[in-house]
Amino acid sequence: MSTIDLNLQAIGRTIIATSQEFSRAPDAVQLLAVSKTFGADAVQAAVAAGQRAFGENYLQEALDKQRAVAELVPGVALDWHFIGPIQSNKTRPIAEHFAWVHTVDRLKIAQRLSEQRPDGLPDLNICLQVNISGEASKSGVSPAELPALAAQVAALPRLRLRGLMAIPEPLEAFEQQRAAFAQLRQLYEQLRADGMALDTLSMGMSADLRAAIAEGATIVRVGSAIFGARNYH
Ligand SMILES: *Cc1c(COP(=O)(O)O)cnc(C)c1O
Repeated sequence: MSTIDLNLQAIGRTIIATSQEFSRAPDAVQLLAVSKTFGADAVQAAVAAGQRAFGENYLQEALDKQRAVAELVPGVALDWHFIGPIQSNKTRPIAEHFAWVHTVDRLKIAQRLSEQRPDGLPDLNICLQVNISGEASKSGVSPAELPALAAQVAALPRLRLRGLMAIPEPLEAFEQQRAAFAQLRQLYEQLRADGMALDTLSMGMSADLRAAIAEGATIVRVGSAIFGARNYH
């Protein structure tokens, strides 16, 4: 059994145990395997272990890897999620080659993805990245501007607004991690209370996935705990 297989099994157990601990349904949390900087062979090993959803941050690397993986595991349907910063001149390949985009934080990007999503593919699933206090990256819509952006994105054809995403600054303590995720959860609950049909909270990485699950994550994005330490990026 490969290391990747063992790591995936361990994370699967953590997800189930944490879901039980915080009274979440065992199937309410989806694992997104973040394969950035790792090769097609690593994705192939994860696919062999049953993993089907993969997250990528860097467009060219992702496109090359998708082609290589398609040759290694022909006929296996994979869900590719784009989770990196988006330049407006790079939206077309994202609209063409991904099932999800987690990092939409301005209307212009959403409009381009909407216009460029090819006919014949299902609607592109969208999460809005929110800059909660202490967000590690500078990307993300501010909480104040979120409701207007959400309404505008939800109205665009060929996109399906699914929910919210955030990358809090790295914090050691579990309760501090929870407090950051609670902010995103509250914004999500408010949008739902206002009538938006959202079902996705994309939050939690290798170091804070338990806190994210405690606060209602429906997708956890896990890289190094599956594939090992990254040497760059
Ligand atoms: C790299 C990355 C991850 C995975 O981080 P790990 O700490 O390796 O689990 C998750 N989400 C985003 C947006 C990332 O860039």
